[in-house]
Amino acid sequence: MKIVIAGAGIGGLATALSLHRAGFTDVVVYERVSALRPLGVGINLLPHAVRELTELGLAEAAERIAVKPSRLSYYNRFGQPIWSEPRGTEAGYSWPQLSVHRGEFQMLLVDEVRRRLGADAIRLDSRLVGVEHGEQHEYARFARASGEEFEVTADVFIAADGIHSTLRAQEYPEDGAPVWSGLVLWRGTATVPAYLDGRTMIMAGDGEQKFVAYPLAPADGDDPGSLRLNFIAERRAPEGTTELADWNLPIDPEPIVELFSEWTFDWLDVPATIAAADQILEYPMVDREALPAWRFGSSVLLGDAAHAMYPNGSNGASQAILDARTLAFHLANGVAALGASSGRPDAASTTAAIRTALDAYDADRRPATARLLEMTRALGPERVMQLAYDRAPEGFADVHDVIPADELQQIADDYKRTAGFHPSTLNERASLSASVERGSVAD
Ligand SMILES: Cc1cc2nc3c(=O)[nH]c(=O)nc-3n(C[C@H](O)[C@H](O)[C@H](O)COP(=O)(O)OP(=O)(O)OC[C@H]3O[C@@H](n4cnc5c(N)ncnc54)[C@H](O)[C@@H]3O)c2cc1C
Repeated sequence: MKIVIAGAGIGGLATALSLHRAGFTDVVVYERVSALRPLGVGINLLPHAVRELTELGLAEAAERIAVKPSRLSYYNRFGQPIWSEPRGTEAGYSWPQLSVHRGEFQMLLVDEVRRRLGADAIRLDSRLVGVEHGEQHEYARFARASGEEFEVTADVFIAADGIHSTLRAQEYPEDGAPVWSGLVLWRGTATVPAYLDGRTMIMAGDGEQKFVAYPLAPADGDDPGSLRLNFIAERRAPEGTTELADWNLPIDPEPIVELFSEWTFDWLDVPATIAAADQILEYPMVDREALPAWRFGSSVLLGDAAHAMYPNGSNGASQAILDARTLAFHLANGVAALGASSGRPDAASTTAAIRTALDAYDADRRPATARLLEMTRALGPERVMQLAYDRAPEGFADVHDVIPADELQQIADDYKRTAGFHPSTLNERASLSASVERGSVAD
C-alpha cells in the first residue's frame, strides 16, 4: 500500500514514523522547502504526546534535547501568584512533559524517518498544488521551485501541510485566510539568570497582555546560574501588525521591550529577558474554524492543516502527534481485518477498508480537536489569569480573596479532560499501537 504525506513538519514526520511502526513500508513524505532547517522557537510536548513518542521508541532521544518542566505557574501582570500546578510525572502522569526547541525536535524526527524508512523517504522541493480523488487512487500534484510539476499516485494521501494547507483550501475554498483574534505574539529565546526552581513554566498577565516563559535547556557548564529561556510576549496588536501568518517574521525588539517595561518582578525581569533575545519573531494569534469533514476520497487532513489552534494550552504539536498515531492505528486495524477476512482482497474492498479506517480517524480526532479549539478560544487554562484581572485589576494580597481554590482547580481539570490528558484518563487509556499483521497490539 502506497502512502504519501505532504509536509515534513512535526505532524507529517510523526505520521510517517507511526505508519512505519504499524508495519506500512511504502511511505513517502513530500516537503515544500528545499532545505530543512531547525526553525521556530520553543514548543511543549504534553504527556499525552510523550506517551506516543515513548511507544514509537523516540522518547529517550527527545528527552536528551528537552527540559522536563516541574510546574506551571500563573501570575498577574504584577507578578503576584494566581495558580500553580505540578507537571509531567510530578503531576502523576506516567510520562513527562517535555519543553523542546521546535526546530531541533523536527530535525530529530527527520533523522529518524531517514534512518527507519530510508534516506529517500523525505523528498524536498515538492510543494503540493492539488489532489484529485480517483475511484481507487489519489493523484497528488506537486511543483518544484523551478516551476516543474509532477504527479504522485497513492492509495492513501495525508495532507500535513500546516495552517495554509493546499488540500484544505481545495476542499473548502470559502475558508480563506486564518481567523485572527486581534492579538499578536512575539516569540524568542534568550539566555537569562535562572529563576524559581530552574524548571518552572510561567505565564503572567491577562487576556490583554501576557508573558509566557519556560526553560529550553539547563544552565550550561560555564555558567550554572543561567538558563536558555523560551518566551512568548503577547498583546492586543498595535497598528501596522500584519495578519499574515508567517512563522519566520523577525522584527525589532525595542518596541516590545518598551511595552513590557514595567513588568520587572522580583523573580524574573521581563523587559531584560526580551532585550536579551537573539531574535524576535512576530506571529498573529490566528486559528482556523473546525471543519465538517477531514476525509475526501482516500485523502485526509492532519495536524495544523486540519485544526490549527491558538498556542495557549501548548497543544499544537501534541495534537498533531495524537492525530498521527490515531491514523496509523485505524489504518493498521483496517488492513489487518481485511487480510483476516478474505484470501486476497480485491482493489474495491481495499479502498473501502481504507476509507472506513480514515473515517474512524476522523470520528476520533475531529470532534476532540473541535472541542479543544473552542476551549483555546475561551483562553483554555489561562482563563484563571483573566478572572484574576476582571476581579482585581490592581492586584491582590492573596488570590483566594478573589478566586476560590475550587474554582481554580475546576478550570485546570476541565481543560486537561477536554485535551485528553487528564492523568486518570491518560494513564489508563489503551495503547494506540497497532500492526497491519495483527491489528491492535499491546505495547
Ligand atoms: C517554520 C515553522 C516554525 C514554527 N515555529 C513555531 C513556534 O515557534 N512555536 C509554535 O508553537 N509553533 C510553531 N510552528 C507551528 C507548529 O510546528 C505546529 O503548530 C505543530 O507542530 C503542528 O505541526 P504540523 O506538522 O501540523 O504543521 P507545521 O509545523 O506547520 O508543518 C507543516 C509542514 O508542511 C510544509 N508545507 C507547507 N505547505 C506545503 C505544501 N503545499 N506542500 C508540501 N509541504 C508544505 C511546511 O514547510 C512544513 O514543513 C512552526 C511551524 C513552522 C512551519
